[in-house]
Amino acid sequence: MRKIIVAIDGYSACGKSTTAKLLAAKLGYSYIDTGAMYRAVTLYFLQHYIPLTDPKDILEALENIHIQFQHVAKTGKSELYLNGLNVEDEIRKMYVSDKVSEVSALPQVRKQLTEMQRKIGKKKGVVMDGRDIGTTVFPDAELKIFMTADMRVRAYRRQLELLEKKQIVDLDDIMANLEHRDHIDRTRQESPLRKALNAFEIDSTYITVEEQVDCILNLAVSKMIELEFPISKI
Ligand code: C5P
Repeated sequence: MRKIIVAIDGYSACGKSTTAKLLAAKLGYSYIDTGAMYRAVTLYFLQHYIPLTDPKDILEALENIHIQFQHVAKTGKSELYLNGLNVEDEIRKMYVSDKVSEVSALPQVRKQLTEMQRKIGKKKGVVMDGRDIGTTVFPDAELKIFMTADMRVRAYRRQLELLEKKQIVDLDDIMANLEHRDHIDRTRQESPLRKALNAFEIDSTYITVEEQVDCILNLAVSKMIELEFPISKI
């Protein structure tokens, strides 16, 4: 069957990454976590005290940032390397979450990462999750999903995830961070978070991860069949 691009966008902590990862494994596709890329740039900016108000410093910093994903055969996961260093755990910490949306709103940062993401997805056979995949990065993606969920449920799920990584964070702090990021992501000038017109919306509040994956898998298979056997040719 012809390979497609599955774009999964939506609010923070709606289960996009978990769903996208499992879906990619079922389809035999690669999974690209674009949020991790924005987090890596943020980590670099924080480590090097880059002022977000100086376009020259921002461009210079971006030239020094090299991001790579490496597949770990043992876990089946792909981990992010920033300038040769594995930063998979560091980029998920709260101090990075607190700054990531400000950094992601910078046009220079978006331009550089969008180009990288387009290069990675050029050959198709990819599940990419983020905020602007179906609207900006791949507006022609064959399948677009937009995920939402109730705020309390999102915060609670994120708290459990952090706990698994031995990070204890108050539920209210997580909720404040999610609300803050949603607001910046939705209202920024460049590629704001919004549902693409032709995206399927999935509310994950009351459904399990398996149900989310099955639902998107069915949509992906239907899309592939439709592309393989277009109605005009039947
Ligand atoms: O997906 P995750 O929550 O890790 O993303 C972290 C942040 O990266 C988001 O809150 C958003 O500000 C930014 N982001 C973005 N565009 C993407 C992916 C993530 O602006 N495609």
